[in-house]
Amino acid sequence: KSRTRRRTWQLWQDITQDKEVDRMKSALLSTVSHELRTPLATIKGFASTLLAEDVKWSVTAQREFLEAISNESDRLTRLVQNLLDMSRIEAGMLTIQCELYSLNDLLAEVVQSFTNTHNGRIRTYPAPDLPPVWMDIPRIGTVIRNLIENGIKYSPADAPVEIATVQQSDMVILSARDHGPGIPTELQDKVFDRFFQVEKGLSRSAGGSGLGLAISKGFIEAHNGKIWVSDADPGAMFTFSLPIDGLDGEG
Ligand code: ADP
Repeated sequence: KSRTRRRTWQLWQDITQDKEVDRMKSALLSTVSHELRTPLATIKGFASTLLAEDVKWSVTAQREFLEAISNESDRLTRLVQNLLDMSRIEAGMLTIQCELYSLNDLLAEVVQSFTNTHNGRIRTYPAPDLPPVWMDIPRIGTVIRNLIENGIKYSPADAPVEIATVQQSDMVILSARDHGPGIPTELQDKVFDRFFQVEKGLSRSAGGSGLGLAISKGFIEAHNGKIWVSDADPGAMFTFSLPIDGLDGEG
């Protein structure tokens, strides 16, 4: 009797795994097709416009078209990078290369890299005397960038995004707080799932693929850190911690 039971259980497990794989496949397909198509359509459109022989465009107009082509190409590159990172994380093949570095310095560099239209909204509150931590600098930079980008994307255009760092016993902590709608409590774990978007339509029009937070979680966990979201009333507060002595630099 117990044998039958076990077989039933295995069957049940297989089906759920199949379902999960199916769900992932369709999420992947719909994201990739939408996220690839939109920039490709823009690139093709502007390139054809520039190539049209019957119209002469002003230099200003030409620049505008070329900028759109360049921006959309960057968006495609980011999507491909995200998909690669995601599949490395899933396969357990993510390797990190750590250096001892200041989270405050990295935060300042990431904020610098935002364009003028956005970095006016970013306020930073770095803790004085924050000890350096072992980190994969580009990866943690990506996490900080993702959190700031989300804060900007999902909150009113004039609302600030506030980033603070602090030391708490053997951890350094960074939190990013915005003044948008926040994340409903029951979805606060889900937002770290790959391809998960609270409001698909809204997130997509904001240029999202639902991978940023899943990748951020993978990167932080590879450092033995944690990442979570809480209510900032109003707004969302995303926080991650990195252990001060957590890694010996080999990853
Ligand atoms: P996306 O590329 O869609 O932004 P993310 O993984 O970064 O993907 O975020 C997943 C979803 O979580 C988003 O689509 C959005 O619905 C929600 N989200 C993320 N950050 C915020 C935020 N700061 N405020 C409100 N919703 C957010």
